[in-house]
Amino acid sequence: IEPDSKDIILSQMREQAQIAIDTADVIVFITDVRQGLVDADSKVADMLRRSKKPVVLVVNKVDDFNKYMPDVYEFYNLGIGEPIPISAASKLGFGDMLDEVSKYFKDRAGDEEEDDRPKIAVIGKPNVGKSSLVNALTGENRVIVSPVAGTTRDSIDTPFEYKGKEYILIDTAGLRRNSRIKENIEKYSVVRAVAAVERCDVCVLMIDGGEGLTEQDKKIAGIAHEAGKGLMIVVNKWDIVPKETNTMRDYEKKIKSELLFASYAPVLFISVLQKRKVFDVIDLAGQIAENRKMRIPTSKLNSIIEDAVMMRQPPSDKGKRLKIFYGTQAGVEPPLFSFTINSRELMHFSYSRYLENRIRDAYGFMGTSLKFVWNERRGAEN
Ligand code: GDP
Repeated sequence: IEPDSKDIILSQMREQAQIAIDTADVIVFITDVRQGLVDADSKVADMLRRSKKPVVLVVNKVDDFNKYMPDVYEFYNLGIGEPIPISAASKLGFGDMLDEVSKYFKDRAGDEEEDDRPKIAVIGKPNVGKSSLVNALTGENRVIVSPVAGTTRDSIDTPFEYKGKEYILIDTAGLRRNSRIKENIEKYSVVRAVAAVERCDVCVLMIDGGEGLTEQDKKIAGIAHEAGKGLMIVVNKWDIVPKETNTMRDYEKKIKSELLFASYAPVLFISVLQKRKVFDVIDLAGQIAENRKMRIPTSKLNSIIEDAVMMRQPPSDKGKRLKIFYGTQAGVEPPLFSFTINSRELMHFSYSRYLENRIRDAYGFMGTSLKFVWNERRGAEN
């Protein structure tokens, strides 16, 4: 964080840092003992204090505790607690630092209520039609609950039932109805969107058919992808888009090309105004939520991989060829695949993409990212 820079990249980094701050459970603030306490540190400390999040103050480059400890104490002056000396390069002090950090971890086992209702977050720029969609799904007379000032809740959860199944809609738009936060009305709050994405199972990214995908939308899609959430693109206001023979197909193609990293995300065209395809959103989101829980039996997975390897030779380097010994699905939501291979270096992105596509050919996994872990087995075979 460069608190004062007007530089565009640095100020964007600051924005990203703010997002990180807003979504974190605990913040590790790293300072530099060699540089000593500088003005920028105090400014960052102010920024962190305002966040009201737990902060662990870490002083790095303390390669020699005896020599540098007096300088470490100087960082008490920031007024955000005890400075913890570490040396990242020499790997010193990590244990104490992690003890301090983990003190602030939430007790997940205790507070995670058993709730298997799929959580669907409706995300998008202002005016794309999020509120209209949520109202169409849940009924116009839905009571908009005013958030209590000062709470960290930044979206409204609305449970609703469809075809005998219960869902939770996470709605970041409804909040704007509250007069207290009207000033934010025209701001596409990335922070709020990110927080909603983090809590959801399926992210419904809504865009305006007349406008297409924006940079912010791509960012949100990237965040949903990285977080392993379900993702679907909903193109609303399809009623106002002039249509020729292949308009829909071409539109979908364009979106897919702009979201190459998430080509698994289905694209749905709707018009909330004309009440067209509105409930398809829920059908599709429900299906994606199921796909995120899908498990492939180990034997099936290994035969898919064996066939894939037979069809396309794995990459090699300096006479050494990639070998995949064994794989298993180690987790769900998102589906996580763990493979034992001879060399991680040989597992190129293009080949892992190829394997992913073979798995998708067999099992679909529409709407969800897949995660892969490559474990190296050293020794005998290479
Ligand atoms: P939000 O800011 O994303 O919650 O958007 P709103 O739900 O408040 O909708 C913004 C505007 O778009 C309103 O004037 C809606 O009537 C209009 N709108 C919503 N859905 C559609 C649609 O399918 N077609 C058209 N033409 N207008 C729509």
